[in-house]
Amino acid sequence: IVTYRGVEKSFGDLAVLRGVDLDIYPGEKVAVIGPSGSGKTTIARLLMTLEEPTAGTIEVDGEPLWQERRGGQTVRASEKHLHRLRSSIGMVFQHFNLFPHMTILRNCMEAPVHVLGLSKAEAKARAIRMLEKVGLADKVDAYPAQLSGGQKQRVAIARALVMKPKIMLFDEPTSALDPELVGEVLSVIAEIAAEGEMAMLLITHEMAFARDVADRVVFFDEGRIVEEGPPERIFDAPESERLRTFLQRFR
Ligand code: ATP
Repeated sequence: IVTYRGVEKSFGDLAVLRGVDLDIYPGEKVAVIGPSGSGKTTIARLLMTLEEPTAGTIEVDGEPLWQERRGGQTVRASEKHLHRLRSSIGMVFQHFNLFPHMTILRNCMEAPVHVLGLSKAEAKARAIRMLEKVGLADKVDAYPAQLSGGQKQRVAIARALVMKPKIMLFDEPTSALDPELVGEVLSVIAEIAAEGEMAMLLITHEMAFARDVADRVVFFDEGRIVEEGPPERIFDAPESERLRTFLQRFR
């Protein structure tokens, strides 16, 4: 569903990604782990077209999102394509960015009405279903300020699910939460993962979670994929010294 080929990204002199090749297959759950600053968030931001690659190609669903042209210049998909490609990607960030002046239900109805063109009734029905899924059916009329951080993050997940994306990106969805709220958010994500149909890219520092949920774990260091494989292999039998050292911090 997503393909990265030879993707590089520099900010000035700082090379953040140094040639990344990564495939995410339909329905596959891929966890991305690695030290702070290794380029994990940048991978997600390129997919959301929040950043532009310095080199390489990224395809979504077989269509180029970023394409490297001869001579090295990278071009973005046309606006028309971009609209469709973006709506097949759902994203949940560290910070939830809910609209504070709208109820939880309205927060989840905005994009399906304005981006997908659903009727209000359809959008409402979908939003309620997704809010039930994340355990917040009783909060539809509440405002974001009335919710805990964990609840807000579950709303952000419902809001992304309402769009029925083919892939969901989670960029450290629990790292801004108080420790006692982390579990409820991870278990909602694990439940959605278990339903199976959507691909997921999970950027996380929660190793136990990555082991449980991921089909494949990708270890980033210094802008490159150093190792990837099934969770048991990555966590129980790391091959590289760098991955061993990284994992030791979580023991
Ligand atoms: P973390 O786990 O801390 O979120 P990460 O692996 O997600 O780290 P990135 O956020 O991808 O790392 O950032 C990689 C590097 O790129 C960091 O050194 C960061 O400071 C730098 N960087 C990111 N965005 C910019 C920017 N807009 N301008 C300059 N440098 C940037």
